[in-house]
Amino acid sequence: MAGSVTNWAGNITYTGAELRRPRGPEELRALVRGGSRVRVLGSGHSFNRIADPGEGGVLLSLDAMPRRIEVDPGARTVVAGGGVRYAELAREVHAHGLALPNMASLPHISVAGSVATGTHGSGVTNGPLASAVREVELVTAAGDLLRIGRRDARFGAVVTSLGALGVVTALTLDLEPAYEVEQHVFTELPLDVLDPETFERVMASAYSVSLFTDWRAPGFRQVWLKRRTDRPLPPFPWAEPATEKMHPVPGMPAVNCTEQFGVPGPWHERLPHFRAEFTPSSGEELQSEYLVPRGHAVEALHALDAIRATIAPVLQTCEIRTVAADEQWLSPAHGRDSVAFHFTWIAEAGAVLPVVGRVEEALAPFAPRPHWGKVFTVPGAELADRYPRLADFRALAADLDGAGVFRNAFTDALLGA
Ligand SMILES: Cc1cc2nc3c(=O)[nH]c(=O)nc-3n(C[C@H](O)[C@H](O)[C@H](O)COP(=O)(O)OP(=O)(O)OC[C@H]3O[C@@H](n4cnc5c(N)ncnc54)[C@H](O)[C@@H]3O)c2cc1C
Repeated sequence: MAGSVTNWAGNITYTGAELRRPRGPEELRALVRGGSRVRVLGSGHSFNRIADPGEGGVLLSLDAMPRRIEVDPGARTVVAGGGVRYAELAREVHAHGLALPNMASLPHISVAGSVATGTHGSGVTNGPLASAVREVELVTAAGDLLRIGRRDARFGAVVTSLGALGVVTALTLDLEPAYEVEQHVFTELPLDVLDPETFERVMASAYSVSLFTDWRAPGFRQVWLKRRTDRPLPPFPWAEPATEKMHPVPGMPAVNCTEQFGVPGPWHERLPHFRAEFTPSSGEELQSEYLVPRGHAVEALHALDAIRATIAPVLQTCEIRTVAADEQWLSPAHGRDSVAFHFTWIAEAGAVLPVVGRVEEALAPFAPRPHWGKVFTVPGAELADRYPRLADFRALAADLDGAGVFRNAFTDALLGA
């Protein structure tokens, strides 16, 4: 029973739901048509109730479905089954001399669950991970199997879908030739050197750039540059190279992190911060993240700096990344080149939630869009104004799922009951 099924962080126990593991497409369709509310559980790395079907609902895991990773080297695509995780996908893609364009900080997460919530890595020219998806295979509430590709008018809804349109049984992703990446870590970048132009230069100084701060002082304890070896590495005059291997959470063992000191390696062993065989991040944590238009990055950093005395006591680390605009209707980066402010909090919700509210107040002038898989308190009705295609999403959800089989309290808050 799913009464004892929790998310990765352990802060969510899925309510009173039954956990089902269909072993094939027919069993899956029968479960969807069974008359209960249904939500798919990916790898459970979200920090809120997005995957919770609610009382009496069915929680579906796809991990007993036949394993599906089909690389097409000629077309440079891969088909990944609905339960596949990035770590296994990346290994297989790399074995064919191919690569994904980007990865999140960890490879442990499922592909379908990640793109459903707008998960992203960093890079001024890199969209969210959903940008690599070219086709979605979906089992709808009626039990039909739809294939929706980029040319379909519905495509903008079905990748970053919050799991609200059906069960994603496979995704086809674009690939490119394999590339190598080297990781360079710098320390102590002061906040006051970051005027808007310098911020752009810092964030564009490598393929993927992350700034880390604990907000105990203004400025960034660490800067991580992930440089593709087929692209130049401009000088980085704003901070000093690290002299030891670093973990973004102070005090955590750096052995859990991917190789640093400019040692080149395959894309999938450098783009994530954390190695597949170790616990990512700190393990004992909550997370929040907000995307705001990149043009407001420096103003937003100062707004956070102004409340750092409130943030620091409940913070493990804060990461700043960039995400290029995409076209998924519910993507937090929809139509806006964005800067993402991520917070790894301590694992005490009672202490953290009031601070989350303060962060939301501080960022409010910049119309922040929260990460769908993390902790936030902004009411759905308020978020609705920040998504210009929300009405289209609602209409499609009503069309594909009139009975609301795939709805839950989380999606109702945004889409209306
Ligand atoms: C340690 C850690 C590090 C993280 N780092 C990053 C990061 O670098 N960047 C970032 O953007 N986010 C990051 N996240 C957040 C994470 O990427 C998201 O929460 C993501 O949704 C996790 O995928 P999942 O499969 O675990 O999702 P789940 O929590 O299992 O599910 C998320 C949503 O997807 C739906 N879903 C899953 N599979 C399917 C399917 N087959 N069909 C239909 N719906 C489906 C679920 O119903 C739910 O609505 C991190 C999280 C953790 C715990």
